[in-house]
Amino acid sequence: MAKQVVTRTYTASIRNQSQVRDDLDALGFAASKLWNVGRWVCDRVWSEIRHTPDHTELTAYLKSHERYDDLHSQSSQRVLQELAEAFKSWYGKRQNGDERANPPTYRKHDDKHPRSTVTFKAAGFKLDTKYNRVRLSKGSNLKEYWSDFILCEFQTRPDVNLSTIENVQQVRAVWTGDEWELHFVCKVEVDVSEPSGEKTVGVDLGISNFAALAYEDGHAELYPLNRLKQDDYYFSKQIARCDGSNSDQATRLVQKRSARRTHYLHTLSKHIVQRCVEGGVEKIMVGDLSGIREDEETGRSKNWGRHGNLDLHSWAFDRFTKMLTYKAEMKGITVEEVSERNTSKSCSCCGRKRDANRVERGLYVCDSCGTTANADVNGAENIRQKVSPNSPNLSVNRSNGWLAQPSTFLFDKETGVFVPREQVTS
Ligand SMILES: [Zn+2]
Repeated sequence: MAKQVVTRTYTASIRNQSQVRDDLDALGFAASKLWNVGRWVCDRVWSEIRHTPDHTELTAYLKSHERYDDLHSQSSQRVLQELAEAFKSWYGKRQNGDERANPPTYRKHDDKHPRSTVTFKAAGFKLDTKYNRVRLSKGSNLKEYWSDFILCEFQTRPDVNLSTIENVQQVRAVWTGDEWELHFVCKVEVDVSEPSGEKTVGVDLGISNFAALAYEDGHAELYPLNRLKQDDYYFSKQIARCDGSNSDQATRLVQKRSARRTHYLHTLSKHIVQRCVEGGVEKIMVGDLSGIREDEETGRSKNWGRHGNLDLHSWAFDRFTKMLTYKAEMKGITVEEVSERNTSKSCSCCGRKRDANRVERGLYVCDSCGTTANADVNGAENIRQKVSPNSPNLSVNRSNGWLAQPSTFLFDKETGVFVPREQVTS
């Protein structure tokens, strides 16, 4: 055991949602507008002098702009910082020869602005842990005569007690697609175990199999979304049945659905970390979410919104990756995000890269070496190999067909844990 200071993000629901929603909407829209103004400035600077401004330059350009005062100055700075980081990342990929990388887009769909995340740093929030309330500052443009802040009553998970945490660094207001929630970013000291081995595992996240795992020793696991999909379908139908006169019931259902999703992601990340400890894993490689475009080409889209009935958003991947990271960290296992570039197109056995649209019925078939693999496992193995080279055992395991027949784990409703498919009781 060793002590280590780590960053933790604790999610909290907002209990007075209906009272603060309009105010938070106004800030979320304002953050999108400021992003767009900054985006436009970046465009102009780029076309004039082929330079992407960093966030101090952007802030200098924009701090007298009208939109800058819609948010607390620290919140506005954070929006421009995110924008500058997104440009830097795009530019870096471009320099590395990634022709497909696109610069960050404008945050506008038709005539509507999405609700961007709003970050409040030290001077922008005041936390009252006794009554579980937090005051979030508005920008001077949005202040009204009687109130210059938003007072949110929040509720964290029962095992999280913010009053015992000395250092809450930031509060973020995040739109989940259903409602606003708060993320408290804290520095905490934790006990960390030594890793139980030095093996690696690759994780590919997707919408049919939420996670596919390829271990260094050759075995593979799949975690299909069946249970969560059934659950979601049930709740969506119930919510659709609520009419306008019964909006309280709809709100309760939406909250319940959101809690169920969170529970599912927690259980899954916990299970996977446990499997990694048992398998002597030291490092987990997870596909970076920027690989989304590539997967759309191969028909394995990761865009939740546009496929199927599942009304889950890409934040689920992001959230899952965060949960996996901090749970793994406690066990001395590191999680690294790696680019998914070409991971769905290449054969993980011989390395041959194929054109898009060759994935059929979830199988990747290589006409060069004859490998037939579950497409998600093939992707996970390619992700793993980006950091860790092939192990000598692998060719043996491959010839046994593990790539095509991974073990499948399902969420068991009775026991509330993930078990091998053949042991599922409900
Ligand atoms: Zn091959």
